[in-house]
Amino acid sequence: MYDPLVNAHPGVGAAHTPSYWVGTAGSAPQDDGPVSGAMDVDVAIIGAGYTGLSCALHLAREHGIRAVVLEANQVAWGCSGRNGSFARISGGRVALAELISRYGATTAKAYFEEMSAGLNTVRGLIRDGQIECDAQPDGVYKVASQAKHVEGLKREAGLYNDVLKYNARFVTGAQVQAVHNGAESFGALFMPDGFSMHPLKLAWGIHRMAREAGVKVHVASPVVDWHSDNSSHRLVTPGGVVTARRVVVATNGYTSGTLNKATAGRVLPVHSQIIVTRPLSAEEKRQSLPGSECMFDTRNLLSYYRRLPDDRILFGGRSAITGRDAENPRHRQNLHDALCRKFPVLQGIAVDYNWGGWVAVSENSLPFIYQVQGQSNVFSAGGYAGSGVSFSVQAGKRLAQMVAGEQRPTAVDFLHQPPKRFPFQSFLRVGQRMAYTWYRFKDAQ
Ligand SMILES: Cc1cc2nc3c(=O)[nH]c(=O)nc-3n(C[C@H](O)[C@H](O)[C@H](O)COP(=O)(O)OP(=O)(O)OC[C@H]3O[C@@H](n4cnc5c(N)ncnc54)[C@H](O)[C@@H]3O)c2cc1C
Repeated sequence: MYDPLVNAHPGVGAAHTPSYWVGTAGSAPQDDGPVSGAMDVDVAIIGAGYTGLSCALHLAREHGIRAVVLEANQVAWGCSGRNGSFARISGGRVALAELISRYGATTAKAYFEEMSAGLNTVRGLIRDGQIECDAQPDGVYKVASQAKHVEGLKREAGLYNDVLKYNARFVTGAQVQAVHNGAESFGALFMPDGFSMHPLKLAWGIHRMAREAGVKVHVASPVVDWHSDNSSHRLVTPGGVVTARRVVVATNGYTSGTLNKATAGRVLPVHSQIIVTRPLSAEEKRQSLPGSECMFDTRNLLSYYRRLPDDRILFGGRSAITGRDAENPRHRQNLHDALCRKFPVLQGIAVDYNWGGWVAVSENSLPFIYQVQGQSNVFSAGGYAGSGVSFSVQAGKRLAQMVAGEQRPTAVDFLHQPPKRFPFQSFLRVGQRMAYTWYRFKDAQ
């Protein structure tokens, strides 16, 4: 499997990883094929996930700039075509209490409003583009997997109400059984906003809207080399060289160290994996997930899960550390074990789909949307830490504003700061292994 810390680029026209989403999405929409020959463009966007596609769409629609998107493999080949499908008020992985203590209540509130705006941006695109992506009714539960997590969830609900004036609420263990049955159901924090959908259909919908607005999307066109002078960038792809005045790097967890020295080492690619079971019987459904809302738990190495419209369960969590180990059946088994610990009625249930992808964690575990220093007109966004479905779409919209000349399109200062480089890069994975061991120990207490 492609490993951003090892390989130079993700491939040339590789097929989508076989997943439940690919199996149920229907036919891919038309694209513009690989780059062939020399091209001279105003704006080139590297990466055709939600960030790149949303940036291209907003550039065309709001700013009259028709960008060219360069994608190594297929449209939404990265995280955007293979995620857990939750569009939530989320971005990065910093607990609300920690966010307030780091940046203060005013900034925390401004960031929450930006994340909420992101969810509304996704809703707006689905509505405007009439994107048929099987969007489900709203509702998100953060479920206490241990009794001792209940007090923390109550405090978190209080912070949402008092500091953010947001209507989150704590639901008791008895109440949560109506939607989340089984062994690890001690209560939950309920967020009324946030829904699940079909992520690949969503990405293809945004892609279609972007092309209708005049964007070109070239697949099988990895940027394998990059030369810059004061006024332009030469992006080398296998089919030809694209000369661009402005470049957007939208490669997130799939960013290799060799793409551009200035953007290298600013995210840690972390592998997240998903299994999808066979469809449940009515009784299995009653004793596991009677509800179809978005669910995740309170572990440090958390699990996220939902019941799909055809009554299968999608269950995901952290897995391998390296690309080389990603196919190891042990990781699939770990997810299966975690699923059955939560819902003992599913013991031995068959798994029909299994896949994974690289999420991007920044040094401060928060996203970034910034102009790259020391480079002429290069912009980038990413670092969503596995919670980027809605925020990457929002970041794409904000990037478009920045490419069009606005310096700081949000009121959240930290979003526009260059993300720090990870120190001790050769030891990144050693550190990650140690952190996982510690988290597993804590989660087992
Ligand atoms: C298993 C999994 C589950 C997840 N679940 C959720 C969830 O439920 N909710 C949520 O909010 N978030 C979730 N996420 C995270 C979310 O999917 C991402 O934050 C979001 O899709 C990021 O979009 P992106 O466009 O920035 O990056 P990506 O979609 O990863 O796109 C990056 C693209 O860049 C391309 N690329 C890389 N290098 C080059 C190059 N040199 N030249 C050309 N192209 C290149 C790649 O091929 C790739 O297609 C999950 C992620 C994974 C992997």
